[in-house]
Amino acid sequence: MTRKLTNIQEDVKINKHEGYYSTKKRGKRSVAGIPHKGWKCSYVEDLGEPMIKCQMCESNMIRYVYHMTHEDFPEVLHVGGVCAGYMEDDPETAWRRDRELKRQIARPKRWTSQYLEFMIKNRHLLREQWLSMVWRTSEKGNLYISDSGYRIIIQQRFGRWTFIVADEQNDSFVYNSKNKFPTLDEAKLAAYDHITSILIEIRDSISKLRKN
Ligand SMILES: [Zn+2]
Repeated sequence: MTRKLTNIQEDVKINKHEGYYSTKKRGKRSVAGIPHKGWKCSYVEDLGEPMIKCQMCESNMIRYVYHMTHEDFPEVLHVGGVCAGYMEDDPETAWRRDRELKRQIARPKRWTSQYLEFMIKNRHLLREQWLSMVWRTSEKGNLYISDSGYRIIIQQRFGRWTFIVADEQNDSFVYNSKNKFPTLDEAKLAAYDHITSILIEIRDSISKLRKN
C-alpha cells in the first residue's frame, strides 16, 4: 500500500516536471528483465527538436537524448532527462545536470574560434558514441544525422556504403564521398571524421584571417 502511494507521488512529480507520463503508460519500466536502477549516462545528444520516443517510458517525444548503459543490459537505451534521472537513482541531481547540459550544448548563433576549439577538442569523445547516436531515416530510406550544423546522409549503392554532407543552414551540398565503404559503421565513422576535418579547416581559416 505504501509502495503504491510512493509510485503515485512519483508520477505526479514527473507530470509537474515535463507535463507528461501517465500512470497507465509505463513502457519498459514495467517489462521484466530490464533493470530499473543502476544505469549510467554515457552521452547526451541534442536532436534540435523532439524527434524520437523515449525508449524507457515509450510515451514521450524527446529532444535531449540520454544514452544510458547498464552492465546487465546489452543495449544502449535512448531516453529523456526524466527517465534518465530515475534510471540513475537520483532524479534531483539528474534534473540539475539536465539543465546544466542543455545550457552547454545550446549552439551559439555564430561560431567563435573558442567554440570551434572546444568542439574540436571534444570530437574524440563524441566519436566513441557516434555509432550509437540516433540516426533518422529519410523519406528515400537513407539514414541521416545532424552534426555541428551539417547533415550527413548515408547511402547504399551496390552493397557498399557512402556518404553525403550538406550544410543545414542553407540546405546546400558540401561534400560527396568518393570512397565506398564495405560496412555501414565504416561509412558513419568516415563521415564523422570528415566533419571534424571541416571544423579544423574553418578554425584554421578564422585564425589566418585574424593574423592578416
Ligand atoms: Zn521516458
